Amino acid sequence: VKADLAIYAAKGTGKAKVVQFHERMDTEYQLRQQLKQDLKQAIAGGEITLAYQAVVDPRKNRIVGCEALARWDHPELGPISPALFIPIAEETGLITDLTRAVLAMATRDCNTWPGDTTIAVNLSARDFRACNVESMVLDAIKVSGLPHHRLEIEVTESAVIEEREAATMALAALCRKGVGVALDDFGTGYSSLSYLQALPLTKLKIDRSFVIDIEADPQALRLLANVAQLGKDLDLKITVEGVETEGQLNLLTSQTKIDQIQGFVYGPPLNLEAMTRLLQAHHRSDLKPIAKRAGAR
Ligand code: C2E
Ligand code: MG
Ligand code: MG
Ligand code: MG
Repeated sequence: VKADLAIYAAKGTGKAKVVQFHERMDTEYQLRQQLKQDLKQAIAGGEITLAYQAVVDPRKNRIVGCEALARWDHPELGPISPALFIPIAEETGLITDLTRAVLAMATRDCNTWPGDTTIAVNLSARDFRACNVESMVLDAIKVSGLPHHRLEIEVTESAVIEEREAATMALAALCRKGVGVALDDFGTGYSSLSYLQALPLTKLKIDRSFVIDIEADPQALRLLANVAQLGKDLDLKITVEGVETEGQLNLLTSQTKIDQIQGFVYGPPLNLEAMTRLLQAHHRSDLKPIAKRAGAR
């Protein structure tokens, strides 16, 4: 409303756009300031919760794991996107407290689930600089009692490049203990292939941007298939993120060597209760495929 009024006020002057821009900057700035102030209490007070999204073996229709995704339901402002609050957590140095809290919740929850579903947790570059990631992760495993091989750490290319030495050491140590290490958003960063080979990894998660066009563009499909093959040549498991349609799913299973799918075609991130119910139902009837989301395109 405030921005609309500003546009009206500026109309006669031909500066509507400029005024609108400044108004928006102003409110965005204020919002970020408020979130900065509130985030510490939110982490300490348990306002941050987790959503869990299934990772599926599409050829068997089996859930193989879940990714833990942080959620903040702000008491006044409502749900805040992690795309907004994660960078704020990084800037303010609160990210390590957040990561520690996420690790604790995720390993605890996963250990109550039936079967041997894995749980993936996202780490930030800041974590490698600010704390001993190896002991932070091992602490969470110890407290929860989750077997090492059921936890997977997700890092982005930029995180491992920014904190190359610390990240490589911590990830190698965790890998040796059986913890999975996935390179997230793969293909959006800028790591060289020789560097990729040197990293202690168990999985590549191919970014959603590679998937978007595969139904319309055969070249896009070939590119994705080759990126998957590249990962296979490095003995890595391949997950494709952001698969939304059955058409994409069919192309991926028939034309590429990917191992796992994560995306709306199998379901959105769910709260703990809903994910627990889904996994229990899935586990009881061993061969029942996970229901594809009703209405999924
Ligand atoms: P990410 O780790 O790559 O997580 C996947 C994101 O893609 C999630 O967004 C998920 O909801 C979304 N997604 C899943 N399937 C689909 C699909 O089919 N289509 C589309 N369009 N999107 C899909 P979300 O939950 O908003 O998280 C965004 C990013 O925030 C994450 O990307 C991750 O980088 C970061 N993030 C979330 N939780 C944490 C956390 O606990 N710690 C850290 N460091 N980062 C986190
Ligand atoms: Mg991730
Ligand atoms: Mg990702
Ligand atoms: Mg992503």
